[in-house]
Amino acid sequence: MSYLICQPVAHFQTLTQSENGEKYRWMTENMSDLFAIVDKNGLVLYASPSHKRLLGIDPKKYIGHSLWTQIHPWDQDRVQSQFVEMIEHKQSTKVECQYLRASGTPLSVEVIWIPLVDVNEQVSQIVAMARDVTRRTEAEKELSVTERWHRALFDNHPDAVVSVAPDSRLLSCNVACEVLIGQTYYEITGQSFYRFVVPEYHSDMDIHFSRVMKGDTVDTEIEVLHKDGHHIPVSLIGLPVIEDGTVVGAYGIVKDISERKQGLTQIRGQSRISEMIALQKPLTHILEEITAVVENILPGKLCSISLVDKEQQTLQCWAGSRLPKEFVNNLNGIELGSWCNPMTAAAYNNETVIVADVLTDSRWVEFQESARASNIRMCWCKPIVDQNETVIGTIDIYSRSPEPPSQHDLRIMGTFAYLANVAIVKENDRREITRFLYHDPLTGVANRMLFAKTFNTVWDSAQKNGSEIGLIVLDMDDFQKVNRQLGHTYADEYLKIALERVEETLKGLGMIARIGGDAFAVLVPTIQGTGELKIVSKKLQDTFSRPISIDGRETKTTISMGAVIYPTHGSTLVELLRNAETAMLVAKGKGKRQCTVFDTSMDTAIETRSATVKGLNNALQNDGLLLHYQPRINLRTNKVTGVEALVRWNHPDRGVLYPAEFITIAEETGLIVEIGRWVRREVCRQISSWMENGHQIRVALNISPRELDEQDFTEDFLRVVREYGIPSRLLEIEITESILLSNETDVREKLHRLQEAGFSVSLDDFGTGYSALSVLKRFPFDHVKIDKSIIHDDKENEHQNRGIVKMILQLLSELGINAIAEGVETMDEAEVLMKNGCTEIQGYLYGKPEPASEKTHLFDRRFVD
Ligand code: C2E
Ligand code: CA
Ligand code: CA
Repeated sequence: MSYLICQPVAHFQTLTQSENGEKYRWMTENMSDLFAIVDKNGLVLYASPSHKRLLGIDPKKYIGHSLWTQIHPWDQDRVQSQFVEMIEHKQSTKVECQYLRASGTPLSVEVIWIPLVDVNEQVSQIVAMARDVTRRTEAEKELSVTERWHRALFDNHPDAVVSVAPDSRLLSCNVACEVLIGQTYYEITGQSFYRFVVPEYHSDMDIHFSRVMKGDTVDTEIEVLHKDGHHIPVSLIGLPVIEDGTVVGAYGIVKDISERKQGLTQIRGQSRISEMIALQKPLTHILEEITAVVENILPGKLCSISLVDKEQQTLQCWAGSRLPKEFVNNLNGIELGSWCNPMTAAAYNNETVIVADVLTDSRWVEFQESARASNIRMCWCKPIVDQNETVIGTIDIYSRSPEPPSQHDLRIMGTFAYLANVAIVKENDRREITRFLYHDPLTGVANRMLFAKTFNTVWDSAQKNGSEIGLIVLDMDDFQKVNRQLGHTYADEYLKIALERVEETLKGLGMIARIGGDAFAVLVPTIQGTGELKIVSKKLQDTFSRPISIDGRETKTTISMGAVIYPTHGSTLVELLRNAETAMLVAKGKGKRQCTVFDTSMDTAIETRSATVKGLNNALQNDGLLLHYQPRINLRTNKVTGVEALVRWNHPDRGVLYPAEFITIAEETGLIVEIGRWVRREVCRQISSWMENGHQIRVALNISPRELDEQDFTEDFLRVVREYGIPSRLLEIEITESILLSNETDVREKLHRLQEAGFSVSLDDFGTGYSALSVLKRFPFDHVKIDKSIIHDDKENEHQNRGIVKMILQLLSELGINAIAEGVETMDEAEVLMKNGCTEIQGYLYGKPEPASEKTHLFDRRFVD
């Protein structure tokens, strides 16, 4: 609504009198507004007929009255002074005031005074046009209140509010909007709102905006762009602005929901991580998830988790795949406490280290370089601490721009450091339990259960790929001896070290597990044929043969191994293990220290073997053993110098069996110890029985290494001898050189004690071993028995052997050791021996081993030396 404010209109009367005069009169008389002409004192000169309708005043009667009588008393002073001013300035003036109706009620009017100037340039008359503005005033009053409220709502709204034109241009925005996207009013308005929306939401916005422009209200969530490029999640309410039924624009109310989103991300992340911990997901996965969640909550940041390597006292990065690789590589392995990087310092001092700007913080000169190279400007490091307040790692936040952490940032780090701790502790517990469940407590290697579990996995893939699996059962040769001689603590320690070495050897090849006492099994997941298994077995043998020194005492062992291949030698683990064990026993039977591959014929061998063990046990209990005695003659005097006791087994089905059939097995199984006890007792009984008949027969006893290992061997020996009252000169002990090669001091002590007690000690089977000569220096033997293989051999080697015999006899005589020749079968042999100074012989030529009863004739005084 607008008035045309005219410039002073000159000479109204002239105007009215002109040719248009009639027109104006018609207009004033018919206009709806109040039209009056007053003089400069306010006296009414003319009043239009509308005065009647609007004020209830007769216009004719009004003439000559003062204009002021018709003005509301409240407004009179103000209006009069404005009237005076108007005349002074000769300027049209607009005034708002209230007229009084004839009835006394007010009428809101807007009055325009137009001064009319006379020829003297003086204001003579004034046109007063008043319009009823009751409606407008009320409407305007109302409008201004609404407008003010609206403005206040718009300006002070805590959320960003924008008004948008139908062509998507932003018409206005409030301060919250400027703050939200980091741009000024002038940068925002005039632009299309699309410019501030993350592109991937543009197509959504097309739909939303067209709905609003159709009159709908839209409530949605999108992401807007901050000036620095980061995305801000927001909720958006779009409202249409409707005028006269048409949509002329829209309002947008945009709320930053980062925190709510972060809160949600955090809650979701936390529950996902908790679930992973509960489901025992791999630790690296859990830690990686933690870094991902933290990065989601703190946009623009990178997160990593490093764990303390307890042994090395260094930090190792476990998670943080979005960090530059070379940056991580630089950090790995730096010693704790070294002040060259914030993480290790945080871990070492158990305190949060904040480096708001790497480039300006002078504490980290060394770190600066790698940070700069990887474009990292800031890092915050928080130690991860377990329930004992021990630092187990750090959680680290990095960014490409310098920034100190907010309380919120620190809280997030704390929360996720705690979750990482729970995951790590749980993992350690799990490992502890797994170790407990699946590992041999003594050696730390896998146990049978884990072996079976691993085998099943390997078996599955072998099924799929049609590949072969190798399996070796290994048993230490004579490990009982280590146990007996050096004690269990030593043996345990020895095993542990030996197996550590084996695990090292098998790295990448297979696994070892303890499946029984000294028995271990090796699984080689993929092999091709037995050749490969042989290579592995060779590696194992080599590993065991490397000496181990504990507390200054050095030991080495050999192993016997049995190898099988899936599917050739069995289809189940039980079958494979059984067959490998069979093959291993065969290896033992063949002289230990080797690996045999299973074949079906071995089954019978093993059956025989177990039958032998059973039978021997039986024989020991039921008088199934007996002794044969073989005489020893002095060729010069032709007298018996003694007899050798040789054990036999009177087998219930097979008759008398010779030692070759059972001694090795008895030694391997330890049964020889019991057999030896029986032999000594029987020998003592026999000697005392001979003594009762007046014969003083010296008896030589064979003692195997296994027997001498027994802690109480000497005591036991002396006890029986005392029991039967046997003079020590009537007993001789025969040992082989192998006894002295193993655990010398212990054996030597035992032999010395016996020698001191008057028993003589002979070295048996001389000339068969490798170190025979050095053996002679190690112990003062009373006799040396030259092995029958040198004395009596095939014709081919006869000449050579005679040379050897001669040499040995010469040597022994130089050393002053008495020589006894074994296995003399011919007169020729006896002659050669005689010629070379060996007078004492044993052999079929003078007497086969026979039961004691058959020998009695030999023991006449005439014959015995
Ligand atoms: P050894 O100690 O070398 O015993 C001598 C072996 O040579 C005996 O075999 C004997 O019968 C055999 N022999 C004696 N003269 C001749 C000969 O002229 N020609 C041939 N070819 N052989 C002859 P045997 O009785 O079969 O004993 C074999 C081995 O068994 C013994 O070898 C000994 O090492 C072991 N042995 C026998 N009895 C016992 C025992 O009570 N305890 C232990 N630990 N070992 C025993
Ligand atoms: Ca012997
Ligand atoms: Ca012998």
